[in-house]
Amino acid sequence: MVDWLIVGAGFVGAVAAEHLARVHGQTVLVIDRRDHVAGNPHDARNEDGILHHRYGPHIFHTNAPRIADYLSGFTEWRDYEHRAVALIENRLVPIPFNFTSLDIVFPAGKAARIKQRMIERYGFGANTTILALRSEQDGLLRECADYVYEHVFLGYTSKQWGLRPDEIDASVTNRVPVRVSYDDRYFQDSFQKMPRAGYTRMFERMLASRLIEVSLATEWRDVRDRVRYKNVLFTGAIDEFFDYRLGVLPYRSLEFEVQVYDQPLHQPVAQVNYPNGERFTRITEMKHLTGESGPRTMVAIEYPIPHRPGETVPYYPIPRADNEALHREYVLLNRAKTVHFAGRLADYRYYNMDQAVGRAISLVSKLRG
Ligand code: FAD
Ligand code: UDP
Repeated sequence: MVDWLIVGAGFVGAVAAEHLARVHGQTVLVIDRRDHVAGNPHDARNEDGILHHRYGPHIFHTNAPRIADYLSGFTEWRDYEHRAVALIENRLVPIPFNFTSLDIVFPAGKAARIKQRMIERYGFGANTTILALRSEQDGLLRECADYVYEHVFLGYTSKQWGLRPDEIDASVTNRVPVRVSYDDRYFQDSFQKMPRAGYTRMFERMLASRLIEVSLATEWRDVRDRVRYKNVLFTGAIDEFFDYRLGVLPYRSLEFEVQVYDQPLHQPVAQVNYPNGERFTRITEMKHLTGESGPRTMVAIEYPIPHRPGETVPYYPIPRADNEALHREYVLLNRAKTVHFAGRLADYRYYNMDQAVGRAISLVSKLRG
């Protein structure tokens, strides 16, 4: 009999297990249907020895020192500030859209006038959102908003979600601001680093307690009646847990196409977005993230697809009022005091990694007083 059965060896499952074992002396069995730990940030070396994120690029960033400090107990870090560009009208334009982007896409005189107007309206150094910019009355700001909406957000969002920006919660497009400055970093968080030996290594250290057992390639449904446990923490999709009793909760999935090149680097920055035209959304080159050298390189091309339960991986909850209402109904189905849900899939929340860590820590603190 274990104190806790944790379903999912991603951030929420691993951090909860680590806390339950180290702080509260609980015995924990962590299972995952995948054959590895670390959930979506999992990384491994390909046949060329290049460290690769199998489920898409994961860049760690946070403004919470307590979360950075906590993870620093399990990894050393490498400094890394993420940068992205988008291919727009055959030019590479920095994303988030900023003053350098304006200088590239507008004639010099007009770019200068738009920048001046943005500074007057928001203040130099501010961030705004595409939705706020689109609601402006001023002609110059509207012209800029229309350009950015048409060329950066509309096509990308339609591909990524199968929905237009106005059909999805504003928090989704708000993740990527419009900058009233030349700051071309993708994130502005105070702590931006990559785990030096990779995410998987960090998770292995997190789970290395003698009170924690890990069972991989193990399905919840295959062990739920076989293993004896006092409590369960489920970090998978909540509709799956309840056998889709209230209907299917929509998630978005992805397909990754990997390409290897006989050259040290293939593209100028880690991430190139393709808001228009192509069926894929972005191409990421891993060596920029890891800082590794070597004669060959690899990229991952992301194709968004609808999630089909049982066939594809649910990567993203789809933030919309109707989906969130269905999620709340699923949460209400849970009457058992010993069954808990947390995580990007179970909470149906678009968590970044630091938020997933925070969610696990606060859940364990709440449950254990
Ligand atoms: P997960 O990592 O999804 O872990 C859940 C685990 O549960 C999985 O391993 C799954 O196999 C397992 N599981 C589910 N159901 C079952 C079952 N029935 N039986 C057994 N096991 C089961 N965040 C950032 O901060 N920065 C980034 O750059 C970033 N990039 C991302 C890029 C992509 C393409 C995606 C999809 C996400 C990205 N994220 C990023 C978000 C990050 O992946 C999440 O915040 C984090 O992984 C959430 O952790 P989790 O434990 O909730 O979920
Ligand atoms: N987005 C966009 N164009 C871009 C980059 C982002 O329209 O060039 C929108 C799109 O809706 C995307 C959202 O902003 O889903 C959030 O982008 P982010 O890079 O945070 O997505 P993630 O890395 O989580 O997939």
